Amino acid sequence: MVLRNALFVLLFPILMLLSGLAVLAVGPMADLPVPMVVLAGAAPYALCLFAGLTGAWFKCPRVVLMAALVLGAHWVVQTFVAGTNIYAREPGLTVVYAAVAVLFPLNALLFAIKTDRGLLSQGMIGRVLLLVLQSAALIVVWDGGDLARQAVDDLTHVRIFDKDFDAWTLLPQPALILFLLASLGLLARAAYSGGALDGGLFGAVAASGLALHSAGDGALSAALFALAGVALLVCVAQESYRLAFLDELTGLPGRRALMHDLNAQSGAYAVAMLDVDHFKKFNDTYGHDVGDQVLKMVAGQMLRVSGGGRAYRYGGEEFTVLFARRDARHAVAHLEKLRAAIENASFKLRAEDRPDVKPTGVKPRQLAKRKAAHQDTVSVTISIGVSQRQDGEEPDEALKAADQALYRAKDGGRNRVAV
Ligand code: GH3
Ligand code: MG
Ligand code: MG
Repeated sequence: MVLRNALFVLLFPILMLLSGLAVLAVGPMADLPVPMVVLAGAAPYALCLFAGLTGAWFKCPRVVLMAALVLGAHWVVQTFVAGTNIYAREPGLTVVYAAVAVLFPLNALLFAIKTDRGLLSQGMIGRVLLLVLQSAALIVVWDGGDLARQAVDDLTHVRIFDKDFDAWTLLPQPALILFLLASLGLLARAAYSGGALDGGLFGAVAASGLALHSAGDGALSAALFALAGVALLVCVAQESYRLAFLDELTGLPGRRALMHDLNAQSGAYAVAMLDVDHFKKFNDTYGHDVGDQVLKMVAGQMLRVSGGGRAYRYGGEEFTVLFARRDARHAVAHLEKLRAAIENASFKLRAEDRPDVKPTGVKPRQLAKRKAAHQDTVSVTISIGVSQRQDGEEPDEALKAADQALYRAKDGGRNRVAV
């Protein structure tokens, strides 16, 4: 599941990155006809604006900030760098570029730190203020005459490694290093968290790094910044998919996904309704949090259901398994395994008073004993009702039949499968 999530969120950013490299391989775009160059230059503005607005709409402050950053960097490249002979390194022209190239990955990392709070939260306002301050500082340097420009230009071109390290790129060494670190950091984080927004931020930073690297060619750089905008748009779309189709607590597909999949079935299938036995007692005895833990444990077991079953959280403590193109007999055999697996997966409760820190000076065996004494093991069981769709039957009817079978399983003494 974790691997599938990571694949899901990293597929698009990596596609963007590969497209970016392909764009780079195509080579200079400076000779494109003027309308094409104008169009390319406009694309990042439009895409970042869309990404920022949808990010605000779906309450993703990190996307809004990143879109603003990409937009600003694109403007700087188009205004100060594109088409000029930057290789001559006239201090006046390169200083803003070099400063932005260094500041971009730093800001990106700051934005990537989770700010789940609202668009108008302190963290968000602080970051916006920081962006405004940096822009103001750049204007001051730009206006401050040759001396100020030269000083910042020297600062941003400090070399940590020798000249060969950055001989192939326009990016000053600190910017190159920061972009590499930021990209790798965000990539690792996205792979670890499986979060779509983390993946999108990685894609946007990597593509922007390539765009700043190609700043000498306005259209080429614009195409790469446009890819950064696309990465942000895609990640908002993926995030809204998650919100719509996946259950927050268990990560299983939710009821909307179930109804969609049921409606997409042609031909026979078996469907099962599962319900945790005496679940109310868990909540009443141990609290709602432990109840949630039980649901997660059950969901974890359900993900491993064999026989081609697909698990969903129907709602509350009820789950569904769909066996596409299978009959009830096939389903029952595999659901029986699932029922037994959940019964045998003893669910351990941590007693409130169990020390969180390992006591020192206690022999392992003693410690194990102590642990056992402080742990309550409770058994979780589920009841399952299975139905098979007859030809021409609506999904609702199949679910209703499964629900009726579930009642029979409950009436029959729970912890069993009924058809
Ligand atoms: P039975 O064996 O007949 O199924 O008994 P039961 O207690 O499991 O049945 P009931 O439907 O009465 O209880 C369901 C309880 O599940 C009621 C509700 O408070 C609780 N519940 C629903 N959703 C959640 C949730 O997301 N988290 C937690 N902790 N509890 C939930
Ligand atoms: Mg119930
Ligand atoms: Mg129940």
